[in-house]
Amino acid sequence: MVSYSILSIISRHMDNDKLFSLRKPLPNASWYEKWMLFYNVAKRNMAVFKAYKNGQYTSIRGCHNMKCRELRRPKDIKRCGSCHQMNYCSTECQSVDWKEGHRDICHRLRPLRLEYDHPTLRERSFITALAHHEHEASILDLCLKKISFMHTHPDEAYYILFDYTSTHSVPLIRSVQQPPRLRTSPSNAMLAQWEDQVNRAAHSEGRMELLVVVFGDGKSTYRRMVPLRSPTSIIQTGLRRIADSLQADVEHSKVDIRKEVENLLARRRELGEHALEWEGVQTE
Ligand SMILES: [Zn+2]
Ligand SMILES: [Zn+2]
Repeated sequence: MVSYSILSIISRHMDNDKLFSLRKPLPNASWYEKWMLFYNVAKRNMAVFKAYKNGQYTSIRGCHNMKCRELRRPKDIKRCGSCHQMNYCSTECQSVDWKEGHRDICHRLRPLRLEYDHPTLRERSFITALAHHEHEASILDLCLKKISFMHTHPDEAYYILFDYTSTHSVPLIRSVQQPPRLRTSPSNAMLAQWEDQVNRAAHSEGRMELLVVVFGDGKSTYRRMVPLRSPTSIIQTGLRRIADSLQADVEHSKVDIRKEVENLLARRRELGEHALEWEGVQTE
């Protein structure tokens, strides 16, 4: 239910009313719970699919000179001509990043151009859109999970995991010490990409986070890295501050933490950061 082609078939052959009129109040049926799970995911993803198809999603790319705060639409940013994995707002930024270490890793990332394990660019682009959307939809819950991780693992970096292959796909926070199972290829380019992204996130002052999406098409399981970029580090520094204050004051109540996170998110909304990728899409 996260595949562009499957959602496209559903939307073509069944209008929403037909699909969703199958919702029957039969809570005693053994399949009811599974059906409701499917129903809810289908409904939510269909809304995202339609918005994506109508062009309401714009992917935003960050400059890979990690000191630069530039975020731009794909047509306004240039890629590294060799690996096609890095984006730069200017030749100056490209040259800074090259010296910072991209020159040592560029050739290791090059095979990714051919080895991406999911067939079409559109599927990859849609899964990125879906992940961005769900990240935004579950941001409060995620922030609370991050605080709890920072509190229990003060010196460890983390990544966000969206596993669409598990039935209850809630976003998880995982330590980078427990990386996702990356498909091994002769070149090990995905492993190189993972190490590079972990390293970049660590040097981004909280302006880049790692998000790994796991999804399947019935035949295979795929993993895709979807780095999240923000123009400022207000959320990350804010969460860190709350996590540190917990260490000093264990009495800090859950209600207070939630309130503080809500304030941070309100501040982020004022700055307009939340609206970078999705333009006003509502999916309940
Ligand atoms: Zn730049
Ligand atoms: Zn390169």
